[in-house]
Parts: sequence; C-alpha cells; structure tokens
Amino acid sequence: MRSVSLPVLGAMLLLSACGAPANKAPQPVAAPAAQVNAARLLAADEAANAGQWMSHGRDYSEQRFSPLTKLGTDNVGQLGLAWFADFDTRRGQESTPLVIDGVLYVTTAWSKLFAFDAKSGKALWAFDPKVPGEWAVNACCDVVNRGVAAWNGKVYLATIDGRLIAIDAASGKPVWDISTIDAGKPYAITGAPRVVKGKVLIGQGGSEFAQRGYLSSYDAETGKLDWRWFVVPGNPADGFENKQMEMAAKTWRGEWWKTGGGGAPWDSIVYDPKTDLIYVGTGNGAPWPAEYRSPGGGDNLFLSSIVALKPDTGEYVWHYQASPHESWDYDNTNQIMTADLPINGQTRHVVMQAPKNGFFYVLDAADGKLLSAEPYVPGVNWANGVDKKTGRPNINPAADYAKTGKTTFVSPFYGGAHTWQPISFSPKTGLVYIPAIQSSYAYGAARQDDNPMGQKLSISFAKSAELMAKTNPKPVSKGYLLAWDPVTQKEVWRAEVANSGRSGGTLATAGGLVFAGNSENGFAAYRADTGEKLWSTDVQTGAMAGPITYEIDGEQYVAVESGFRQTGNYYAPNYSRILVYKIGGTAKLPEAVPYVAPEINPPAAFGTAQVIAHGEEVYGRYCSTCHGSDGLSRGMFPDLRMSGALQAAEAFKAIVIGGALSKNGMVSFAKALQPDDAEAVRAYLVNRAIDAKAHAKPAAAEPVKAVATGPHT
Ligand code: CA
Repeated sequence: MRSVSLPVLGAMLLLSACGAPANKAPQPVAAPAAQVNAARLLAADEAANAGQWMSHGRDYSEQRFSPLTKLGTDNVGQLGLAWFADFDTRRGQESTPLVIDGVLYVTTAWSKLFAFDAKSGKALWAFDPKVPGEWAVNACCDVVNRGVAAWNGKVYLATIDGRLIAIDAASGKPVWDISTIDAGKPYAITGAPRVVKGKVLIGQGGSEFAQRGYLSSYDAETGKLDWRWFVVPGNPADGFENKQMEMAAKTWRGEWWKTGGGGAPWDSIVYDPKTDLIYVGTGNGAPWPAEYRSPGGGDNLFLSSIVALKPDTGEYVWHYQASPHESWDYDNTNQIMTADLPINGQTRHVVMQAPKNGFFYVLDAADGKLLSAEPYVPGVNWANGVDKKTGRPNINPAADYAKTGKTTFVSPFYGGAHTWQPISFSPKTGLVYIPAIQSSYAYGAARQDDNPMGQKLSISFAKSAELMAKTNPKPVSKGYLLAWDPVTQKEVWRAEVANSGRSGGTLATAGGLVFAGNSENGFAAYRADTGEKLWSTDVQTGAMAGPITYEIDGEQYVAVESGFRQTGNYYAPNYSRILVYKIGGTAKLPEAVPYVAPEINPPAAFGTAQVIAHGEEVYGRYCSTCHGSDGLSRGMFPDLRMSGALQAAEAFKAIVIGGALSKNGMVSFAKALQPDDAEAVRAYLVNRAIDAKAHAKPAAAEPVKAVATGPHT
C-alpha cells in the first residue's frame, strides 16, 4: 500500500469539510405516538388544522398561506429564537418542514430526515437512508432535499439516489423502501413527494443527464407502483405508452430518444380537490439547444409545461407549454398554486406559476386556458410577450443561439427569474410573494458532444465567460423579494437583497406578514401590503428554504431551515440548521466563526504552455460546473486555487483519479480522464493561483456575478 503523503492529508482535511459533521446530529430517542393523519389536509378541516403545516405547501392549494394571526404587524418585532438544532452537513439546505401533532419533520442534504418536538426542539429521532456519496455526481445542483409528505401514520421521503421510503412517523423506522428509477441510470430526486388519495406521487431530476422524465404514483401503504406518466415520448419503434405520447412524438424531430429528451418533473406536483386534477411542472430539454435535440424545429412536448392528470389513473387531461422549443434550461417545474382570483368581474379558479422563463402565468384550472402572462422581472428577452389568443410566446429568433451560431445574451439566465425557492400567495392582499432574480447569460452552442460529466448541456462556457467578462458595463445580476399582483400582472413592491444577493423562499400569513430569508445571512418579516421590513435577524448563513408557521399551546412559531450562502464563499463558515422563532424567544446562536480569507499559496509553476492550455480545456469541461469557471469558486464547492492538493501531483491525482474524496461527492474521474489530464489541470490551476496571488485581493471572496438585462448581440 502506498503511503499517504502529507499534502494528501492536508487536502483531505481542507476539502472534506464539505461532508464532515460540523456539529452533533440529533440522536434518536423514544418518540411520542404522532398521529399523522394527513386526511385532514382537506380544506373542510381548515379550522381544526390552522396551527399545523401538514403538507409541502401547507395545504393542497400550495399557497403557503397560514391563517394564524397571533403574530401580526404590531408584535412581530418581538420575535426571538425559541430553539434551533444543527445538522451534520454543510451542503445546500432546501427543506420545507412539516409540523403535525406537535412534531416537526425536516430533511437535509443527503436525503436525511429528522423529527423534533416542535415546541421544545427536543430531538425525537433521525433517519439516514445512507445514500452513496458517489451518487452526488448524478445531481446537477447539489445533493439537496426539499422535504417530506405525510399520510396515515407514515412520513414519505424521496432520496438523491432515486428511492422512495415510507417511515413510521412515531418511531422513525422504515416501513418500505423502493427504487423509483432504473438501476444504474443517473436519475436523482431532490423534491418532496405529495400524497393524494392514498397514493404517493414523485418525479425526479436528471434532464441534463439525458433521461426521459416521468411522474410515478405508488400505493401509500405498500409502495406498489400504481401508474407512471412519461413527460416525453420514447422511441416510436418501441410503441407509445398512450395517445399523448403519440401526439407528442409529432412535435419532435430527429432521434431525440437517443438522448432521452429530458422533461424531468423535479419539483411541483399539486392536487386540486375542486377539479380533481394533479398539476405537474415539467423540466427542460436535453441537450439544451433545441436545434440539437430536435433539428429543424418542433415544440418538443411535454417539455417545460404544466400538465394536468387524473390522480386515480394518471390519465392526461390538458397541458400548457410555457417555453416551446426551449433552449435555455427553462424548467417549468416551479411551484404551482391554485387560487380563486377576481378576473374581469368574475371569480375564476386558476393555477398560477412564476417559472424560470420570467413570465407569470395565470391559467384556468379546469382546462388550462391561458388567462394572462406577463414578465415579472425586467429585461426578459427570450420572447417578446405571450400571445393571449394562441397562448404561445413570441420567441425572439436571436435567442435561438444554436440556430444563429452566435453567442447571445438571453434573459433570464439558466438559473431562472425564479427557481425552486417557494413562493406564497395571500388571499388577504391578493399578492404573490416571489424570490425573483434579474439576470441574463451569454448562451452559445458548443459541440453537440461537449458534455462535461455526462450532462447534455452542449453550451460553450468558455465563450460565455469571455463575453461576460468583456461586456461593459457589467450585466445586471440581482435578487429581490417581489410582491406581484396576479390579477393586474404588475409589481406592487420589492425588497432588495444586500450585495445583489438572492431572496429565499417565502411564507404569507393572515397576520399581514410575509417571511423570507436570503443569501446574505438574513431572515426577515415584511408588511404583506407595503413591503416595510418589520423584523429581521442574523442567521449567520444563507436561508433560502421555505419558512413555515405553526401554533402550539396558544403560541405561534415560525421555522426556517438555513444553510448554504448562495452567493458567498465556500470558505466562509456555513451552518445547516433548523431555526424556530416565537414572541419572546430567548435562545441564542453560538458566536459565528469569523470569515478569514484563506491564503493562496501555490507551488512553483510547471508545465509547458501546451500542457496548461490542455489543463484549461479539461477544467472547463469537467470541473467548472461545480468549482466555477476560471478557477473561481461558486460558493458551494472549493476554490481549487487554494487547494492544498495543488502542492503535489500525487495528492491531486489521488483525488481526481483515485477518488480519495468520493465520500463527499467528489468522485473519481478515472473513466473520463487520464493521470496526465489531471496533472495538466493542476498545472493550469497553479498558474491561475499564481496569477491571483500576484494581482488581487483573494478573488475567492468575490462571488461569480453574471449577467444582464437586454439583448447585447
Ligand atoms: Ca434544468
């Protein structure tokens, strides 16, 4: 056995912070008999359940509106920390907790589930599905989890490695544990399951990995598959599963089935008792440029759509495609809400959505007819409006970068004008509260086979970075909390986030409040009607997940999961926590560890210009997705210019080729790279580090800021 050199150990210590326990995890203890009876989710039982948060979006409408009023505009300033608990990971945290019969259920990165006494914060039990660390490579955007569903004494957890697990709500012990994916295929689940009529519904992520997305329905008691609905058609030669797939196949050209097509429904699944329909949001296409996956045109159904299905059979009822022939990673998976809105003097029962493409949609819930669609952020330019008669966007021909062959600024950027962070709707103010982002990205097509780490992006990151760096003035990239009137389709107020950061998920209450965290350490309450900030607190890290509120023994609580500063720096301290507030709460967070910029201390330069250029190319294709373009950190993964492993070829190779850090999700690249490639990447990074040391304040302290508001080419 080869001895491990000191640099290797140093690098491991440095990098393994990613997955290492930061604090003590809650320990399983005896639990009370939680009577998880989510049958009470029905609106008729609203009064009895006012103090609970029983499903992902609180109730079937997923408005994330609580009827609780003990907290209001007059007393929210007295909120203090009631209790908190630390988790054992510093990866991204996106979970919306549930609170049912006094127990709070919350998930963390790596698909772990924790149960707490919601009043005292006492840890009741913890469940770890033990997903393999190396599965992280199948998740485009970290090993996050957005929460659980509950039904009839069980809690349902979906895992990053594609499993669906029923867990006894009282004991935390698994009841059944099934795979929802084809073994070996790189699907990943980050979303929360929903339970409808005794069936558990779950989709998956993986459009970028050349997959065929689908929604599955399982029996909540047994885990038996009930029905499955595919988003895109398969190979016509194999026959179609249903008539809609045959119809959808007519909107595709070429041999799309060879790359799967995409469409993965990774987030929103909503049931509407009024129409007895499920609405599911579908993902983008793969590869990204439509011209590559469907040469010569075609809408590519059912990508980037809301699709309505019957819950009992999975039968298709209607669809609305927001971004036909989409090329910009415009997933349409974002939160869907049902509501009754006054439109033209009539009360209309609608579905609403603020998807990544920047338009706010209001559709008739019964038939999917477009009622209105307007841009909810400035600068949207992939389409010049949406035609109200046809329901179709007027797509800007210049935005079809694969067809024009020109690298072009398109707004919104691929992260979307809004993505997974929950939105909320207050029937009292009539406003929707959206964590909005104004941005653009220089899209340019790469070779069709340019697929770093198996992701079918076919995007030229190098050309984009070059154009974005050259553009003066710098393109706008900022996040804010937006209050949007869905009837008039107009902005009513906005609360900017410091440092051009990002707003987190939102919660609206009958007490006239909106709660939202942000990427800049803040969690705050605003007046729902005016946006006036009434209370805020320092949470020491980003808080992007959806907040919730509940009431126990006459006291109203507000809870939010924190962890991961979206625009900050990997080396800044991060805390993954559940934080719970109430009037007069006196708990205190431990002192935050002050941020000290790490020293850039590269070894002497080595390698010929040719080797370094090769290293740059390899880095761009295989490393930049996580570690940032040009060696810059994206906040979540290490800035490799500061890596101790740069000191020695052996250390770097042990990680990149040997997989020494695979437990943390940094897998071996042995399948794609040779040891010489790894050494060329090291030569490139050493060069970048020397340059950074000579020229600047540590560039790692600067988050990567993209982007603009209008067409530039
Ligand atoms: Ca996507």
